[in-house]
Amino acid sequence: MTIFEKIAAREIPADIVYEEEDFFAFKDITPQAPVHVLIVPKRAIPGISGSQPGDAELLGKMLVATPKIARQLGVFEGGYRLVINHGKDAGETVPHLHIHLLGGRALGWPPG
Ligand code: 5GP
Repeated sequence: MTIFEKIAAREIPADIVYEEEDFFAFKDITPQAPVHVLIVPKRAIPGISGSQPGDAELLGKMLVATPKIARQLGVFEGGYRLVINHGKDAGETVPHLHIHLLGGRALGWPPG
């Protein structure tokens, strides 16, 4: 099981801020901004590069939910950023697809 599957199964605690049947969002343990949550499918899709056509509906639902989550967390008006890391250069560390939602401060561009 990936660490995120264990969080989904409530085997590891996390601060869950949003949940639907097949995905959920929880606060990142090492936040990089005042608001930093991870939006994660409950079943392990092994990263964006491991996603399959059959995952498209779930990934679409996750993306469509992001404005709602951003509003709930109070960053919709100020702005927020979605990030999916792939591979070493991007700093991917957990092999279970996740979308970072970051906000609550001005985010530099280009990203570091
Ligand atoms: P990646 O670098 O793979 O794009 O992002 C993985 C993220 O998961 C990191 O930002 C890291 O802080 C977060 N993370 C890793 N382990 C845990 C954990 O056990 N709980 C929570 N809430 N976040 C975690």
